[in-house]
Amino acid sequence: MDTALADRLAAVDDRIRDAARAADRDVSGITRIVVTKFHPAALVQDLYALGVRHVGENRQQELTAKRAELVGIPDLTWHFIGQAQTNKARLVRAGADAVHSVDRARIADALHNAAPGDDVLDVLVQVNLTDDPGRGGVAPEEVGALATHVAALDSLRLRGVMAVAPLDEQPGRAFERLRRCADAVRVVVPDADWISAGMTGDFPEAIAMGATHLRIGSAITGPRPPRD
Ligand SMILES: *Cc1c(COP(=O)(O)O)cnc(C)c1O
Repeated sequence: MDTALADRLAAVDDRIRDAARAADRDVSGITRIVVTKFHPAALVQDLYALGVRHVGENRQQELTAKRAELVGIPDLTWHFIGQAQTNKARLVRAGADAVHSVDRARIADALHNAAPGDDVLDVLVQVNLTDDPGRGGVAPEEVGALATHVAALDSLRLRGVMAVAPLDEQPGRAFERLRRCADAVRVVVPDADWISAGMTGDFPEAIAMGATHLRIGSAITGPRPPRD
């Protein structure tokens, strides 16, 4: 076992506890997702041995391949956090337990239409907190309309919102906008109380703002291998 991995995981968990305490929050309300993208399935196995039960992937092909490789580990929750393509909806749905990146009605419809039987998929509305409309996510002012659309699809369970903080702004300020978007979603679906925010560089700020799901990669896994 990789002791450096264990040390980094423990150090991040200490920081999560500290940030929760500083924000007067119960750490049990915070799910730490380890983002394992670009790393081999063996790393997921090592993380599992260290107690990790939530992992995140941002590419469908990688998600599908790792999940197939690790099919013997049933109690692992796979979060899909990347841009989803409508023609891959069936594979995303087959590989993910939760999809954080629903940012348009068409991808919601595609995921819904790919539902096997009466299975229900957890989804979040991804919000674009930047000024660049080319970034993933729906504009904050359109969150309510997209939430209404998603809420009408009975094979999807709308759980909340997800965002990445812009690089050129204090993350805490950006996360304030995300919190207002979370409020807008709860007007539509009152129990949709997930806020997926916080990465290696900004998870303490996300905890202070109320994040329930942190997506932490390199602080735990170490640097990512180059992508192919
Ligand atoms: C890669 C990624 C993360 C994790 O990034 P780190 O900075 O390595 O913690 C979180 N969220 C999304 C959407 C990502 O693509």
